[in-house]
This record gives sequence, structure tokens and C-alpha cells, in this order.
Amino acid sequence: MRDEDIVVVEEPQLSAAERMYLPQIIDGMRTTLRHMFDTRLRNRTTVQYPERKRQQRTEVYRGVHRLNKDSQGRVACVACFMCSTACPAHCIHIEAGESPWPDREKYPVKFDIDELRCIYCGMCEEACPCDAIELTPHVELVGRTRQEMVFDKEGLRGDEGPQAAQESGQDGLRAEHVAPDASNASFCVRSLAKEHGAQ
Ligand code: SF4
Ligand code: SF4
Repeated sequence: MRDEDIVVVEEPQLSAAERMYLPQIIDGMRTTLRHMFDTRLRNRTTVQYPERKRQQRTEVYRGVHRLNKDSQGRVACVACFMCSTACPAHCIHIEAGESPWPDREKYPVKFDIDELRCIYCGMCEEACPCDAIELTPHVELVGRTRQEMVFDKEGLRGDEGPQAAQESGQDGLRAEHVAPDASNASFCVRSLAKEHGAQ
């Protein structure tokens, strides 16, 4: 290294006020006062969460998943693997089985989503040809173990299982949803699934 490449940084000389942190204190007070008047002028409030909850979460908010039913009350999913293929976090695990119903080939014997691994991107919802998987506005979920946060088919359907138990007594945003009849989509799903090499 050449001598001219060396940069000597001198220690800054602090004034008496700077040594007493006065500029920083004044800056902090200015920020506090700005927020105080801003809150009053714009009628902003602090929500006492979790006793009170904000209501402005919209229906398009991407929260925890729901597995929808079709018009006959069956799971709307036709096990096409489109969602798990699209999932960038690889947190959807599906085991397909032969469908007991004549209007579709397959159904999910197992359908698990690891809610802790999920990044709530919505790709699964976009990829699903049957509106079977959907992200709801719900965000308030707790679990004492990782395993509790892996939701299975029953939990994702929302009428039973761990997810419903967690939601009991909450604001009821998870309304029952019926997906369009899976039989309408099954032909295109079969073609797409073969295209993607699904089982
Ligand atoms: S929201 Fe995104 S990360 Fe979560 S399961 Fe769906 S595709 Fe995967
Ligand atoms: S994309 Fe939809 S129909 Fe296909 S496996 Fe996923 S949830 Fe089921």
C-alpha cells in the first residue's frame, strides 16, 4: 500500500453542547412532539392490542390458509399438486389417493401446510385451479410446538382441528366458503397435473 492511499481520520472535536448530548435530546423531543401533535391533529389512536383489535384488515390480506369445500361438502382439492409445485417455501405436503367419487380422479389423503415455514406469498392460491386453497385475513395463531403449527386437512378446513380451536371466540372472519364445484375443473386439472408430472 502506498502512503498516499492511507486516509487519516481525525477524531472530531465535540462542542460543549455535543458532549452533553443536547442536540440528540432536542432531536428526540422534536420527534416526540411531532408525533404527539400529528396524532391529535389527524385523530390517530393507539389500539390496545390484544384486548382491542383493528378492523381494517381487508379480505385480500394474506393470512392463514383455508382449504375450501365444494358444493357437496367434500374437500374441493383434487390433489393436482399445483400449489405445492408453485410454493417457493416448500411447505405444502400432499399425498394423493384415488378418489371415492366418480367426478374426479384424485383427492388429498393428506394435506399439510407448515404455517411457520410459509411466507404468505399467495402463490398457492394463485396456482390452484379449483379455488380449493385460499389465504384468509386471519393472522392470530399461536402454537406451543412447531408440530402444532403444521396444519393438516382437518385443521385447514376450519370447521374442526387446531385452527378452529384457536379461533373459537374470535371475530369470526373465517366465514364458511364453498369453492366452485371441483368436477368442473377436474379435466383441466388432470391435464395440468400430467404436464407437471404429478402422481
Ligand atoms: S402462501 Fe406462499 S409460501 Fe405459503 S404455502 Fe402458499 S405458496 Fe407456499
Ligand atoms: S392446487 Fe388446489 S386443487 Fe391442486 S393440490 Fe393444491 S389445493 Fe388441491
